[in-house]
Amino acid sequence: MKAVFKFLRYAADYKGLIFGNFIFNFFYIVFNLISLLMIMPVLKILFGKAEETNEIKSSTYGVGDWFSHVYRDFLDWFSDLAKGEPFQALAYLSIGLVIVTLFKNVSRYTAMNFMVLIRNKSIRKMRLDIYEKCLKLPIAYFNNERKGDLISRMSNDIKEIEFALMVSLEALYFQPLNIIIFMIALVVLSAKLTLYILLFLPLTAIIIGLIGRSLRRKSTKNQQLLGRVMSSFEETLGGIRIIKAFNASKYFYSRYEKQDQEYTRNNISVQRRYDLSSPVSETVGISVSALLLWLGGSMVFRGELDPEFFLGYFAIFSQLIPPFKAFSNALYAAQKGMASLERIQELVTAPVVVEDPQQPDTPVFNVGLELKNVSFEYHSEAKVIKNINIDVKKGQTVALVGPSGAGKTTLTDLIARFYDVSDGAILLDGKDIRKFTQEGLRDLIGVVSQESILFNDTVRNNIALGLPELTQREVEEAAKAAYAHDFIMSFENGYDTEIGERGGKLSGGQKQRLSIARALLKNPEILILDEATSALDSQSEKAVQKALELLMKDRTSIVIAHRLSTVMHADKIVVLDQGEVIETGTHKELIANQKLYHKLIQLQELKA
Ligand code: ADP
Repeated sequence: MKAVFKFLRYAADYKGLIFGNFIFNFFYIVFNLISLLMIMPVLKILFGKAEETNEIKSSTYGVGDWFSHVYRDFLDWFSDLAKGEPFQALAYLSIGLVIVTLFKNVSRYTAMNFMVLIRNKSIRKMRLDIYEKCLKLPIAYFNNERKGDLISRMSNDIKEIEFALMVSLEALYFQPLNIIIFMIALVVLSAKLTLYILLFLPLTAIIIGLIGRSLRRKSTKNQQLLGRVMSSFEETLGGIRIIKAFNASKYFYSRYEKQDQEYTRNNISVQRRYDLSSPVSETVGISVSALLLWLGGSMVFRGELDPEFFLGYFAIFSQLIPPFKAFSNALYAAQKGMASLERIQELVTAPVVVEDPQQPDTPVFNVGLELKNVSFEYHSEAKVIKNINIDVKKGQTVALVGPSGAGKTTLTDLIARFYDVSDGAILLDGKDIRKFTQEGLRDLIGVVSQESILFNDTVRNNIALGLPELTQREVEEAAKAAYAHDFIMSFENGYDTEIGERGGKLSGGQKQRLSIARALLKNPEILILDEATSALDSQSEKAVQKALELLMKDRTSIVIAHRLSTVMHADKIVVLDQGEVIETGTHKELIANQKLYHKLIQLQELKA
C-alpha cells in the first residue's frame, strides 16, 4: 500500500486536473445512483400501487426515515403530475432516465478527459526527464549492455507506468468513493439488510482475494520467465554464426526448450487461475445475491421493507461488485507500475560524475595544452592511464600511437572532459580544465572519430550540428573544404537530403567527409582525430586525408592513428603502451630509438 502512495505522488504536480477528474467522477457516481433509484417509482407504477404511497414503510432503523419522506413527497408530486395516468407517468420516468443517464455519461467522459491530460502530461515529463538525463550522464554510463536497458526503460517501463497510472490513479480514489456512496445508499434504503449483508462480506473478500494474490505472484514470475526466454532468443540471433560454425545448434535448442517449457508451464497455471477468478467471483457474487434475495424477500413478506425499496436495494447492490474488482486491480497495477517507476527513478537520479564548477572561468587557449601527471581508472578498477605527461603547444600536431587498449581514446576523452582525471591535472594555458564549464571547454574542441556519427536529419543539419543559426553559404563552404560539396550536390535534394538512420545511404568516405565538414564549420581551437581514416578503403582515405589536412592546418591537433603513415609528419609522436608513455619524439627520432615505434613501423612494413 505504501508503494502505491509513493507511486501516486508522481502525478501530484497536476492537482488541478486531478481535482477536475474527482469532481466529475463524483457527479458520475451520484447520477449513476439516481438512475438506479429511478427504477423504484417505475416498479411502483407497474405494480399499480401509486395510490398507496402513504403506506410506505420506512426501514426499521431511523436512517431510512428521511429518505422515505423525501421519496414519498416525490411520489406525491409525481402522481399529481401524472394525474393518475400511468402511461404518462412512465413516459416521464423514461425521459428522466435518459436525461440522468446522459448527465452521468457526460460527467464520466469529462472526468476521463481530465485523466487523459494527467496521464499524458506526467508521462511526457517522465520521458523528457529521461532524455535530458541521458544527455547529461557521463559517456561511461552508455556501454552496450546499458543501451538496451535504457531503451527498455524508455519504452517498456514507461508503457508499464502509463498503464498503471491510467488504471490506478483514478480507481484508487474513485472506486472507494463509489463504494462509500453506494453503501450509504444501501444503509439509507435498509440499514437492517445492509447489516446482514456486511456480516458475509469478509468471507467473500477473502475468497476473491486469495485467488487474486496467487495470480499476482504467478504473473510476476511469468514476466521474469518470458524475459529469460526472450533474451535467450536474442542472444542466439546475435551469435547464430558462431552457433552454426561450432555445430552447437542442438545444445542451444535443448537449452532454449527447457526455458520455454518452464515458461509455458507457469503460463498455463496463470491462465487457469485467471480463468478461475471469473467463475469463482460470479458464484460467490450470486451466492451473496441469493442470500440477499432470501433475507430481503423475507423482510418484504414480514412487511419490514417495501418491495420497491428492496428492488432498488438489489439494483444498487449488484453494482457494487465491479468497483471492488476495479479497486483490487488498481492496487495490483500500481504495484507493477511501481517496479517500473523505480527503474526510471534510478536512472533519473543517477549521479552525473562530471560536474561543472560553481563559478567557472572562461577558457582561453593561446599557449598550449598540458597533461600533468595524469592518471585515470574506470570505476575504481586498475589504472588505464598511468602518470602521463604530455605537452602540446598551440598549433602543434601531436600523434598518439600504440597498440590497441593502450589508452589512447581514454586520453582524448579526458581532454574533452568526458571523464575527470583520477590524479594529476589537464591544463589549458596553465589553468585546470575542471575550472571551466564542460560546455565552455567543448566549444574549443572538435572531434572526428572513426565511426562517423550522423543523425537521421538533413545533410545540412548534420553538418551544422548544434549551430542552427549558420547560413547556407557557410555550410557550403565547409562542405567544399571537406571535399563533400560535389557529392552532396549530386543528391536529388542537395543539402536538404534526408540521411537515412546513421547515414546508411552514404559511403564510409562520404560520411567521414561530412564529419570533417562539421568539424571545419565549428572551427575549433583543438582538434581530436580518433582513427578518422582507419575504417576507409585507400581510395576514400585519400579524399578524406586531403580534407583532414586542410582541417588540421594551423590548428592544434591530437591525432590517434593506427596507420602510422598518416602520423609521420606530426610535430610530436607519443607512443603509449598499457597506459604509459613509452617514448616521445618525432618520427625520425623514434625510428632512431629502435623501440616500440620502430617495431610498429616494421609491422606495418613502412619504410623508415
Ligand atoms: P585505445 O584507444 O588505445 O585502444 P582505450 O583508451 O580504448 O585504448 O582503452 C584503454 C583501456 O581502458 C583498455 O584496457 C580498455 O579495456 C579500458 N576501457 C576502455 N573503456 C572502458 C570503459 N568504459 N570501462 C572500463 N574500461 C574501459
